[in-house]
Amino acid sequence: MTKAVLITGASRGIGRATARLAAARGWSVGINYSSNEAAARETAALVEGAGARALLLRGDIADEAAVIAMFDAFTRVFGRLDGFVNNAGIVAPGLPLADMDAARLKRIFDTNVFGAYLCAREAVRRMSMQRGGHGGAIVNLSSAAARLGSPNEYVDYAGSKAAIDTLTIGLSKEVGPQGVRVNAVRPGLIDTEIHASGGRPDRAAVLGAQTPLGRAGSADEVAESIVWLLSDAASYVTGAIIDVTGGR
Ligand code: NAD
Repeated sequence: MTKAVLITGASRGIGRATARLAAARGWSVGINYSSNEAAARETAALVEGAGARALLLRGDIADEAAVIAMFDAFTRVFGRLDGFVNNAGIVAPGLPLADMDAARLKRIFDTNVFGAYLCAREAVRRMSMQRGGHGGAIVNLSSAAARLGSPNEYVDYAGSKAAIDTLTIGLSKEVGPQGVRVNAVRPGLIDTEIHASGGRPDRAAVLGAQTPLGRAGSADEVAESIVWLLSDAASYVTGAIIDVTGGR
């Protein structure tokens, strides 16, 4: 039976690259997106081009009802949930904490922490062998920011990703006995549109040049680690947090 993976925020960037690679490795793919349906359709075309089934799932990961509806629609269509990639995440323009307003902080933590926790919960509810599932693998997207702290840029985002590291450690211990592996990938400076949404489109290229490998990474390079962690090749790996940072 073909395995099925649900990826949040898959209309572009690392989520899209993961969708395409997972499809090439034989997974059916659920493509969650928040608003850009045209971009999500492009991801679906890449998945189908790789010979796999694609399902578009619109929904805000910070909205509990939308998250539950998304997982329900996914399992209705594919009949199973083997993999889940907790990828959707946001940054806001660089500022010192003293200048951040409450609305910004709430938005960052609502999406990156509350949304990611809700999605992980729904994945476990369907994968856990104690709850009628047949096991599975969850991969959370953290960030090198979780250990660097991102001073004067976004300590809010950095803290939200530290929560993802802690979720990975705790949840992996909680659900390992239930047949569910939980790991994280911690990207560094990856060339995607997220930097433009933080006001600095050239951020990955400029800062990437200062890493030990001397360049920014690509979304495809991050996807390789994610899809490996989803796969049976990583069957004894859980609670791991893999840096894909060019040594940063
Ligand atoms: P991106 O901005 O290109 O893609 C993120 C996607 O998530 C977008 O399509 C966006 O629409 C979606 N999204 C945001 N909020 C959402 C919500 N509430 N509901 C549903 N979808 C939502 O970013 P990316 O660079 O591909 O990042 C993917 C993940 O990797 C994020 O969690 C990010 O924090 C993490 N990351 C990225 C980098 C990097 O340098 N690019 C570095 C470290 C970590």
